[in-house]
Amino acid sequence: MAIVTGAGSGIGAATARRLASEGAQLALIDLSADGLAATARMIAEAGGAEPLSLTGDVSDQASVAGMVAQAVERFGRIDILINNAGINRDAMAHRMTEAQWDAVLDTNLKSAFLCAQAVMPTMRAQEDGRIVNTASISALGNIGQANYSASKAGLIGLTRTLALEWSRYKIRVNCVAPGGTRTPMVTSIPTDIMERIVQTIPLKRMAEPEEIAAVHAFLVSDDASYITGQTIYVDGGSSIGRAT
Ligand code: NAD
Repeated sequence: MAIVTGAGSGIGAATARRLASEGAQLALIDLSADGLAATARMIAEAGGAEPLSLTGDVSDQASVAGMVAQAVERFGRIDILINNAGINRDAMAHRMTEAQWDAVLDTNLKSAFLCAQAVMPTMRAQEDGRIVNTASISALGNIGQANYSASKAGLIGLTRTLALEWSRYKIRVNCVAPGGTRTPMVTSIPTDIMERIVQTIPLKRMAEPEEIAAVHAFLVSDDASYITGQTIYVDGGSSIGRAT
């Protein structure tokens, strides 16, 4: 069974649908009950098993502990954790508030640590577990995103360290770093700015959420059984350089 955080929208919803289509039982976590209901509806329409929908805050330890306990109670095991919930609160660094910094670091980075720590005892007992963190190409640096970029670079370091510490328990930990992906997170970017960004991407388009979901699904599959501690950039080539 798989836990997907931020499953009420965008990439998390696409990942939940993808894993359900492969037969996984799911516990879906999000702040938004409406978002979770929409994802559950799509899974049902596609013939997938009804997920356990858990409304809660992944940046809050007590909330995470409660939700993971409910998942264990329902399914008796946890095979997969997709740490995907995330937010942005963009501002130039010299104007960024402490609240903007804390909100992004807590939601994007602390949450992944808390969720991984919460599922670890179950995965250790099973001697099998697969965790994927969702970073971003912004980990490499992005103007206006000091908080977001730091949180995503932090996720890559967290991934590598957890992979080292938990390899002895056969828990694999990997990371996906998407480039710009067509989800509600980027809809506030004005069209002309978005068009300019797209022209810098070697593949000259944004990703679809399903293209990120496919890599989440690969990394938790048996096909990735010898892969741990890695970050895969799914960014149309942007991490290599700008389009000419
Ligand atoms: P989205 O805004 O569509 O979805 C994010 C979901 O996370 C929402 O449903 C939201 O309610 C949930 N969420 C936020 N804070 C939460 C919390 N504290 N507890 C529980 N749930 C919470 O965003 P998306 O584009 O699908 O992004 C998914 C992940 O992919 C994020 O980590 C994001 O940083 C990353 N990412 C997105 C892009 C992009 O261009 N869309 C690019 C790179 C990385």
